[in-house]
Amino acid sequence: MAHTVDRHRLAAAIERELALFRDRHPRSRALFERARAHLHDGVPMSWMVRWAGAHPLFVERARGARFTDVDGHEYVDLCLGDTGAMTGHAPPAAVEAIREQLGRGLTFMLPTEDALAVSGELSRRFGLPRWQIATTATDANRFAIRIARHLTRRPRILVFSWCYHGTVDETFAVLSEGKVVARPGNMGPPVDPAVTTRVVEWNDAAGLERELSHGDVACVLAEPAMTNVGIVLPEPGFHAALRELTRRAGSLLVLDETHCLSAGPGGCTRAWGLRPDLLTVGKPVASGLPAAAFGFTDEVAARWRANAPADLADTGGIGGTLAGNALQLAAMRATLERVLTDEAYARMIPVADRFADGVEEVVREHRLPWYVKRLGARAEYGYREPPPRNGGEAAAAADPDLDRYLHLAALNRGVLMTPFHNMALVGPDTTRADVDRHTDAFRESVRGLLA
Ligand code: PMP
Repeated sequence: MAHTVDRHRLAAAIERELALFRDRHPRSRALFERARAHLHDGVPMSWMVRWAGAHPLFVERARGARFTDVDGHEYVDLCLGDTGAMTGHAPPAAVEAIREQLGRGLTFMLPTEDALAVSGELSRRFGLPRWQIATTATDANRFAIRIARHLTRRPRILVFSWCYHGTVDETFAVLSEGKVVARPGNMGPPVDPAVTTRVVEWNDAAGLERELSHGDVACVLAEPAMTNVGIVLPEPGFHAALRELTRRAGSLLVLDETHCLSAGPGGCTRAWGLRPDLLTVGKPVASGLPAAAFGFTDEVAARWRANAPADLADTGGIGGTLAGNALQLAAMRATLERVLTDEAYARMIPVADRFADGVEEVVREHRLPWYVKRLGARAEYGYREPPPRNGGEAAAAADPDLDRYLHLAALNRGVLMTPFHNMALVGPDTTRADVDRHTDAFRESVRGLLA
């Protein structure tokens, strides 16, 4: 791995920032120590220890684009729950709808009228006529894969190397020297992923054609732009090739809009005029309450019906007792109709552009071989020039120590970045002053590294 900054300076800078972090967070540290008694790693979910500080911050409360930790520090939140809170925290319209539904019952295994409004709005946004509700984006992806296998009677799926689609077994596969191997760190894969999955590099239409030609791929599962190994945008013509090649091969195309929802109210699908067979979306669609959805064409619906009697009594592999419950639908309706509105995006995207402009300016000032990518309300920087064309190139440019330093320095200056990558997300309440605070912190921390 080629590093773009001096390692001794970086190590010293991390130590400086860690000392500052320790001084500023005695209450979070005390809670973390106590939490270790009965929580594995001291956190409710193990990845929560993987933040830049010496321990995670414990949150006191959050509102809009900001949160306050238990030591009383207020932060500009550019992580926004890694998209789960892209709506901003506790958006009043969703809170009101959730509160209202709480008093009327949460889950019945029966529909409520909100389901009509939600499915209508999802259809309007994404251009797909048929919808089902799931509880997480992972679930939505798993169900889409099952439907594709059921309809095509084919065993495999195809994904792009270094993708992420949630904890979906088949997707934890990467290309290594042309071979499909388990993604490093993946725990207990049920089978060798080469059995279930074909893998191609993003933007490689020839590779895609070759792998689809085996005739055993039920579906291609893809984000419209890769967002989980930095942002890697599709090159001109790649989506047209993806659609044409999947059609020709008889493989269904599933687009995962969970993160690409940053591109606009109908994600990249609407913004770029894409035509998937199935589409999945989760995370912020209910303002942070667990909810997700998957949509599909009339043709998929007709084939699904023709392939009955699968999924009749909760044993078809698609569902979940709490999926589509009344609380989810009340929250989704409020989120889609009153929070993540067209007007909200019109405010968010220019603020995200300002974030990217600020980072680009600092990168240029110091002639760093780094890049900045934009996807509507989302922006991300990385350490490579020219920018990566695919997941393999993006993964090879990763520099976890540099991430750690920049995230920690931002945190110590009141800005939370997304862990595991350098993503900043702008919500409806994020202001220009908020992103300028990041630019100032970023400039200071870069100077701290080069001085
Ligand atoms: N799809 C994409 C593109 C994601 O980035 C993620 C999570 N980061 C998921 C699906 C899964 O979401 P969840 O963990 O809420 O199931």
